[in-house]
Amino acid sequence: MSVEIYFCPDHPLEHLDFVATYSVMQDWLIDCDGGFLETLDSCAEVIDGPQTINCASCGNSARFGRPPSALEQIAKQAEDG
Ligand SMILES: [Zn+2]
Repeated sequence: MSVEIYFCPDHPLEHLDFVATYSVMQDWLIDCDGGFLETLDSCAEVIDGPQTINCASCGNSARFGRPPSALEQIAKQAEDG
């Protein structure tokens, strides 16, 4: 069984957290002109997404699949100097 996960393409073994961007439904308190005053909840419902998933450490666009093995990663780092 192959395990597929999100991983950072440059640092698959070190960068393990990601920022995912979703469209959410949220209640706002507004004034009589329709101007924003404040949010009333953090998120009522997820509408769509994730649109993007980026590495939380370096900002790279995350890849999904089988991450490079530790040996492949060490060889790549040696090639990169
Ligand atoms: Zn990263």
